[in-house]
Amino acid sequence: MPLDFVATKALFHLPEGVIYLDGNSLGPMPKSAPARMQRALQEWSDLLIRGWNAAGWMDMPRRVGDRVGRLIGAEPGQVVMGDTLSIKVYQALASAIEMNPDRRVILSDTGNFPSDLYMAQGLCRTLGPDYRLKTVAPEQVEDAIDPSVAVVMITEVDYRTGRRHDMTALSARAHEQGALIAWDLAHSAGALPVEVARSGADFAVGCSYKYLNSGPGGPAFIYVAPRHADTARPALSGWLGHEAPFAFDPDYRPGAGIERMRVGTPPILQLAALEAALDVWDGVSLSDLRAASLELSDRFIAGVEAACPDLTLVTPREHVRRGSQVAFAHPEGYAIMQALIARGVIGDFRAPDILRFGLTPLYIGAAEIDGAIAILAEIMATRAWDREEFRRRNRVT
Ligand SMILES: *Cc1c(COP(=O)(O)O)cnc(C)c1O
Repeated sequence: MPLDFVATKALFHLPEGVIYLDGNSLGPMPKSAPARMQRALQEWSDLLIRGWNAAGWMDMPRRVGDRVGRLIGAEPGQVVMGDTLSIKVYQALASAIEMNPDRRVILSDTGNFPSDLYMAQGLCRTLGPDYRLKTVAPEQVEDAIDPSVAVVMITEVDYRTGRRHDMTALSARAHEQGALIAWDLAHSAGALPVEVARSGADFAVGCSYKYLNSGPGGPAFIYVAPRHADTARPALSGWLGHEAPFAFDPDYRPGAGIERMRVGTPPILQLAALEAALDVWDGVSLSDLRAASLELSDRFIAGVEAACPDLTLVTPREHVRRGSQVAFAHPEGYAIMQALIARGVIGDFRAPDILRFGLTPLYIGAAEIDGAIAILAEIMATRAWDREEFRRRNRVT
């Protein structure tokens, strides 16, 4: 059954005159979010601190984590929400590296998101001079997994190009070589079907404000394979991951299973927004979503290539090798993107030269794709981007 685009689009607030191709960076607001957040504010007003028990605030990271788990192929009790993705990357890496004590190398690829690489570098510095982060080209990851590698840390879908790794193959290769593997699903969760448990992943992390639409600063998630959940030692040993937080024991004892991956007080208002956003997913089949995403991407690629010969596709053409975004390179990519945004087509720019477009079938259909192609074609044909004001860099690109 195809995705009911008319029904899902109606669930989002999308400003008039905007074609939003940046839901891979910050998803739009679900119309139900303000009322759900208002309810949380009301609980705060009326219940005060009693809200932690009476309104179930304390269990929200697990409750919401189970719902995110359904979207990434995890069972209930395997995912918990909290913190930001950078923190969860650190936590997964630090736990994993401790489980492989004779090895000193974290392996990643040069296409990974810088924050993931920075967190790995910081962890290596903390652990000592023998530890190091090794990065290789994305195509070389499989061959680079050898017996020196403690943990492989890979983002499934490349944030710039949209190139996708094979989770099952790389996880198998890592295990064969005695390494653990931690997946970053930032551009996968809500973008395509993920089978985190079946893929063999040891750890997985991701964010909720991209394809899952929880709003700016929405909490991240972490998945721990059940075989590790009661043994992994969380390096960030905060009180809410303690076995008995309200015993106020001066010594840390990790909680049972995924609970130990909690750190501190959960962001209740953001979790409320995420709960509303997850309602949108209740009736959605991820394979239908994937079919729609590939159809839209193919349509966008064909249209842009026909109308804009100066733009070079950097996203793989093969369906299994890409996520749910399309990227083109052009030396004036920044100015072109600013000209597009001025005309209401919102994508984003990623240094050094990439125009990036997120394809999100919950609220983007063929008409939006055709509209975006037409405006991009006109901007390229008339060189409307070639103006000083479009070259001035903003703080956030
Ligand atoms: C978006 C993204 C992040 C962002 O991390 P935050 O801590 O949420 O700011 C990290 N890693 C990857 C791969 C991302 O795509």
